[in-house]
Amino acid sequence: MRTIEHVIGGTRRSSARTLPVYDPATGVETARVAAATAADVDDAVAAAGKAFVEWSEVSLARRSAVMFAMRDLVDRHAEELARLVTAEHGKTLDDARGEVTRGREVIDYACGVPSLLKGAYTDQASTGVDAWTFRQPLGVCAGITPFNFPVMVPLWMHPLAIATGNTFVLKPSERDPSASSLIASLYADAGLPDGVFNVVHGDKVAVDALLDHPDVAAVSFVGSTPVARYVHQRAVAAGKRVQALGGAKNHAVVLPDADLDDAARQITGAAYGSAGQRCMAISAVVAVGAAADPLVERLAAQARAIVVGPGADPASQMGPVVTAAARDRILSLVDSSSAELVVDGRNLADGPGFFVGPCLFDHVGTDMPVYREEIFGPVLVVLRVATLDEALDLVNANPYGNGAAIFTDSGAAARRFQRGVRAGMVGVNVPIPVPMAYHSFGGWKDSLFGDTHVHGPEGVAFYTRAKAVTSRWPGPAASSAPSLHFPTAS
Ligand code: NAD
Repeated sequence: MRTIEHVIGGTRRSSARTLPVYDPATGVETARVAAATAADVDDAVAAAGKAFVEWSEVSLARRSAVMFAMRDLVDRHAEELARLVTAEHGKTLDDARGEVTRGREVIDYACGVPSLLKGAYTDQASTGVDAWTFRQPLGVCAGITPFNFPVMVPLWMHPLAIATGNTFVLKPSERDPSASSLIASLYADAGLPDGVFNVVHGDKVAVDALLDHPDVAAVSFVGSTPVARYVHQRAVAAGKRVQALGGAKNHAVVLPDADLDDAARQITGAAYGSAGQRCMAISAVVAVGAAADPLVERLAAQARAIVVGPGADPASQMGPVVTAAARDRILSLVDSSSAELVVDGRNLADGPGFFVGPCLFDHVGTDMPVYREEIFGPVLVVLRVATLDEALDLVNANPYGNGAAIFTDSGAAARRFQRGVRAGMVGVNVPIPVPMAYHSFGGWKDSLFGDTHVHGPEGVAFYTRAKAVTSRWPGPAASSAPSLHFPTAS
């Protein structure tokens, strides 16, 4: 059976322990992935540390040229990357192609690194004194990523880290690791020196070794909230800069004045696309007043019409979930709920693949597990409230704060929502407000531990640190007497 290997300093190798990788559409094990030991992680960090010495001195022009080459290669291998994603994650090919495009857009942004790192210069800040600031790389940065976007989420991190002069060790999800191996080959083809981008595969053993390693300067994590909280605490305790993006329960508030046909279409796509396994999936609808009945009717009709099947089949609109354990967890949450199950997708769960059909609950209460827990499957719940105020209170009381959307025809209501909602990314008649690469992506509350969002300007800030220089060139006229007072501009 094929083994998916680490890429350390440009060399591929395995470990004694390996983990299974499945095709979720068939339930068949298709490969084994190496599970790194602490010693493997040590080697990867050492390779990255060695490469940093030269890479951090490479000119911006050359770093940018590597990113342009990488952009072209990712474009040319987009179909191959998408097929790897579908084979191990299960999402439809169309969806996987979209993921590759959204990830590649971060490389587009990183191509502009000379502009992104332009410092700020102040001439004559004081008499004969100039001041300027610029940003320098941190060193070895680590990325730890989830299964649900095996191409896009790592691309949120490494292009900007590398373009700004750092070296990188990626620990991708052990469930769909193949795409990261291809990305490593493409970087090599783009002219990136060995050791600048490394991949260590595995599980908690590899993660803990990265979190504790004294030579890792910064950790970017994306995954579930309990692990994000743990990663943040442990890596901060080890003195690192950390951004740890966690789970989500994203709400769509629908007002009675919204175009309900459009809202139902948009919400259906956002709830069931990728079988609900998106951190920006809409998993809770808050129907306000008279919107509820006609909205639920439309949502139910749309959910029943979704074609579920293998992701590689062009007829499929929704694929399986990632593992048998994920399927069983989703089913047990649905089984145990006392809310009204309007659309029941459990009958699809009998085959060997990891399928769950679309489920829709109505009249859900905020105390119910199907609302409180991040289900991360094709399950949408509808809660009913009387006013926009009540809807805002409900959304803001939820511990997660990744994305939130409002559907309305009223500019005033939309403005009130976008200003008052406690979430990091807001959509107005847009269900999945995933920011473009030149803006930054991140949530609030339990959806993000740390201070900066990923990619965009906040990504550049995360992977660099500021330096402020003040300089004077004393001429013959300079005062000869020492001055002991605190320096002020004059
Ligand atoms: P996960 O937390 O199980 O795993 C994420 C990473 O952490 C993986 O690389 C995994 O190997 C590692 N890991 C898992 N358990 C660990 C442990 N106990 N100690 C150390 N490392 C551990 O997440 P997942 O199931 O792969 O991905 C789905 C989750 O990711 C969902 O909660 C989803 O909302 C979240 N997510 C969030 C965002 C965001 O932007 N906020 C984006 C994508 C996914």
